[in-house]
Amino acid sequence: MALPDLAPADLAAFADAQRAAYAELKAKGLQLDLTRGKPSPEQLDLSEALLSLPSGHVAADGTDVRNYGGLAGLPELRAIFAELLGTSPANVVAAGNSSLTLMHDTLVQSLLYGRPDSPEPWGVEDVVRFLCPVPGYDRHFALADRLGIELVPVPLNDEGPDTEVVAAMVADDPTIKGMWLVPTYANPTGSVCSEDVARTLASMPTAAPDFTILWDNAYAVHHLTDVETATPDILALAAEAGNPHRVVMFASTSKITFAGAGVAFLAGSEATVAAYLEGLGFYSIGPDKVNQLRHVEFFGDAEGVRAHMRKHRDLIAPKFAEVQRILGERLTEHGIAEWTDPAGGYFVSLDVLDGTARRVVELAKEAGIALTPAGSSFPYGEDPRDRNIRLAPTLPPVAEVTAAMEGVATCVLLAAAESLQG
Ligand code: PLP
Repeated sequence: MALPDLAPADLAAFADAQRAAYAELKAKGLQLDLTRGKPSPEQLDLSEALLSLPSGHVAADGTDVRNYGGLAGLPELRAIFAELLGTSPANVVAAGNSSLTLMHDTLVQSLLYGRPDSPEPWGVEDVVRFLCPVPGYDRHFALADRLGIELVPVPLNDEGPDTEVVAAMVADDPTIKGMWLVPTYANPTGSVCSEDVARTLASMPTAAPDFTILWDNAYAVHHLTDVETATPDILALAAEAGNPHRVVMFASTSKITFAGAGVAFLAGSEATVAAYLEGLGFYSIGPDKVNQLRHVEFFGDAEGVRAHMRKHRDLIAPKFAEVQRILGERLTEHGIAEWTDPAGGYFVSLDVLDGTARRVVELAKEAGIALTPAGSSFPYGEDPRDRNIRLAPTLPPVAEVTAAMEGVATCVLLAAAESLQG
């Protein structure tokens, strides 16, 4: 029977049993961590060959990659990622090691100079607001907040942001200059933006003429099953709808090769790329082309990236399966939690009984299990229902994922029982 339906005496007995289970859990003296979505050492080992590349220093067009220049990045690497991101090489920039840096650059340039469709820089407005599908990526929200952009939560459904809500808001509020979006295997829910949702976002009328979607396709090729879902071709949809500059796309190899030493990409209309490079030219004389050539040699082509990602999948899918197994076995019958079962990406989003997420994280911490702080997936860290917890199972070995998840399940049940007892 679901916990909320138990008679008081049964609930009291259940709570006592959970207190005993929690005492046992604490006595184990665990030290486990399910916080940040990092690749495991075994995943990093898949790219070890990069450390002895490149074999030479000359790019396909004769460029000596050791020298300055080539602001847009090596054409052969841009071609590989253009294919993976569903666009053409001329629309892609290959940059440094972090896509977050490119998102920051894009926002700063928009605030200071505006975007191709801007009547004036965003920064001259009193208020600049961004829609934030929730639950979402904490660093997106913190980055925009730090630049003075107001964060406005909007619901994220299984097929992407709730377009009815979004379209209504952007239609008559010119202060809404843009929105965050992780289209494929969103952080943390794993939702995938459908073609219909993408079309609506690309074509909806917006009060701000320069409304911008920051389309962060961080997990474009990070499938957990053998169904390799393609991301909607948002740049083409936006161009068809007469809004060619509406979307700026981002990606990186952070979770493909080395998280600290990969290559990041920005893509968009020709005007978007030209404006970005014009700004970039003031603070860079060119990217790390040695690293870019190393990646070209390592992958060979887009199929090389896909084949490499299947090796990642084989390493991490068992960890995600373990999360599902334990949540299913321990929580389903009690009717107090729901969670996502992503087909890709790095996270599982767990919704516990309303009002108990902070308590679950606190209980887990006291038992030696580090979880991402409750509320992290919401603007300003405020989950209005205090129910969402982001789980990141890729880094620890499978046995640790098992131990951590068993512990999390105990904490979820204890917090729910406490709360229901009032
Ligand atoms: N975008 C999303 C959605 C992420 O989840 C992450 C890392 O967790 C990043 C971007 C970070 O990307 P990068 O390492 O390229 O800065």
